[in-house]
Amino acid sequence: MIFDGKAFASRKEADLKERVEQLRKRGITPKLVSILADNSKETELYVSLKAKFAQKIGVTYEIHHFDGAQTLEIINDIREANNDPSVHGVMVQLPVVNEEALLAAISPEKDVDCLTPTNLGLVLSGHPRLLPATVKAVLEVIREGLGQFEGSREIEGEKWLAGENIVIVGASVIVGKPLAVVLSDLGATVTICRSHTGNLGEITRRANILISATGVSELVTKEMVRPGAVVIDVGISKLLRGGKFRVLGDVGKEALEKASFFTPVPGGVGPVTVACLFENLFELIQEA
Ligand code: NAD
Repeated sequence: MIFDGKAFASRKEADLKERVEQLRKRGITPKLVSILADNSKETELYVSLKAKFAQKIGVTYEIHHFDGAQTLEIINDIREANNDPSVHGVMVQLPVVNEEALLAAISPEKDVDCLTPTNLGLVLSGHPRLLPATVKAVLEVIREGLGQFEGSREIEGEKWLAGENIVIVGASVIVGKPLAVVLSDLGATVTICRSHTGNLGEITRRANILISATGVSELVTKEMVRPGAVVIDVGISKLLRGGKFRVLGDVGKEALEKASFFTPVPGGVGPVTVACLFENLFELIQEA
């Protein structure tokens, strides 16, 4: 079964549009400020996807361009957005130079992607204010993936991932690390792999849920996947093939064929992540 991220996200879109209308009746226009300090093609693509989604649901999405700017200048802009009552969420589009300093400047109350040290600390404590958008998206996709085995698995309750053996490839602060904590808190046995991991295939083959988030094109080959596994591909990379740039995931085509359920790239986790980011914005508005 192939997960249709676009269809899943469009259901969320309809719900969010309705919520924007309710807020407008109360005189509130949701606004998200995105700090863009890297002008790579990939970053522009991510930002344009968010801008399109925001426009569809009626959220004001303001991009602050800082190509070549000093860190202090960007931090001052983040602080202004923190103190502006018309702004409900602030995010820094990653990757960026001085990532730690920029993320730490965001007010935790406006940290829509849940990446400030305070909000990541809350995730670690087991009492999260929000979840990073990609983590939230992957959780929802897992629920869909397990839901296909209707009746054979318990997919509700506090520890709905109990008994699952999950392997995550990629240990970044925005995906792998918080995801590992959240999945473990939900009862799963989690193994986290990174570029220094030896015998990667031996470890990934043990997973009944395999998640890859590295950005290395087709890193996961068919020998590395357990037959019938749920495979979630978070990675996005561009590769020149046949004279054209193609968007690829971390998992190769033949590896996906061994899965019982998988997410394609593009059109899998990506659209769900964008929708989850805007859901987070509404959580912050409700909290304020
Ligand atoms: P990152 O560069 O910060 O981290 C990559 C991680 O992969 C590191 O922990 C590294 O050790 C690991 N890694 C790299 N090569 C490896 C290898 N050969 N074997 C095992 N591990 C390896 O990247 P990131 O910001 O976490 O993003 C990862 C990928 O996910 C990128 O392609 C990014 O575009 C994509 N992404 C997608 C979404 C989405 O919604 N679909 C969201 C965020 C990131």
